Amino acid sequence: MPEPAQARLTIDLDALAHNHAVLKREAAGAEVAPVVKSDGYGLGAGPLARRLWAEGARSFFVARLGEGEALRAELGPDRPATIHVLDGLTTGAAPRFDAAGLTPVICSLPQAAAASVWARQSGRRWPVALHVDTGMNRQGLSAEETRALAQAPDGLRGLEVALVMSHLGSASEPTDVRSAEQLERFRQILPLFPDSRASLAASAGVFLGEPYRFDMVRPGVSLYGGGPLERPDERLQAVATLTAPILDIRNLRPGDRLGYGSGVTVDRPTRIGVVGAGYADGVIRAARRNGYAWFAGERRPLLIVTMDLLAIELGDAPAQVGEAVELLGPNALLDDQAAAAGTVAHEVLVRLSRRAERVYLGGA
Ligand SMILES: *Cc1c(COP(=O)(O)O)cnc(C)c1O
Repeated sequence: MPEPAQARLTIDLDALAHNHAVLKREAAGAEVAPVVKSDGYGLGAGPLARRLWAEGARSFFVARLGEGEALRAELGPDRPATIHVLDGLTTGAAPRFDAAGLTPVICSLPQAAAASVWARQSGRRWPVALHVDTGMNRQGLSAEETRALAQAPDGLRGLEVALVMSHLGSASEPTDVRSAEQLERFRQILPLFPDSRASLAASAGVFLGEPYRFDMVRPGVSLYGGGPLERPDERLQAVATLTAPILDIRNLRPGDRLGYGSGVTVDRPTRIGVVGAGYADGVIRAARRNGYAWFAGERRPLLIVTMDLLAIELGDAPAQVGEAVELLGPNALLDDQAAAAGTVAHEVLVRLSRRAERVYLGGA
């Protein structure tokens, strides 16, 4: 039972393990390397990664150097995972990469040069990954830069390119031709690195089929329950469940206004539940009107979302103050809430705040 007035975020590591198994099956032999950037999409990179390690994961991805250092500490000496840092070798960071045993994902020519200098100074071969941009135009070496780097006599001296990777921009829209174009460009790059492993797919790409899987896939959001097509997927389970108690039940009359300013004006008698959670707990304000909560076995429209309180329409549901309402979880679906707020599941997850009390189920 949640304490009165206390929102609760439950993070179900058994559901995470289930989703990992689904992705593993779909990956059909390719290594599943979980992406736990931004503190595991806001759910806690340490607990997630320890459970994923127990499920067999041995390589992880984070975005920032600091996230990599924190993850190394969370995994500890007994779990010597390969931790890739997507930002790559930022200026002056090489000693920190070494100290924490992190693998930079090199994404520019200056980064490659700096990595090579560092490796030669320290007198050993340094395993790195290489990010090649195949059409997302966000991060990575261009095809021309990659070719020049691979063919320059000293370009990669001291480095062992353990992994060549790229990232798909439109994998969640299976009819978009960009994925096939990116796949083709990626294939043209790979012969330059005959000894390297290859990775192209994130969550959505895993489901595009065998040609996209290569040696390793890098799912994030689908491990945490987000559907690969940005809509609910029955194969995946909710990892994050946000509940909060009903604090008050009110009856509004036609013409009554609810909440701030241009909020809601009801046009019929409306019974509402005022719930003890708001956007400070991660319920995105833009989800009002289109989003819903789950209570007493049904979807209940989300009428307003303020910082600490929100209101749902109760209809004639039996309801009592103190009862818990599900705002995100197995019934208030992540992808539905994202769509209602005009965003993606990734953003809904990372916005879950530290204010809600956190409970982990199924720790490793
Ligand atoms: C974030 C990210 C991923 C994971 O993406 P999901 O859509 O969450 O599966 C994989 N690869 C790269 C390069 C990323 O930036």
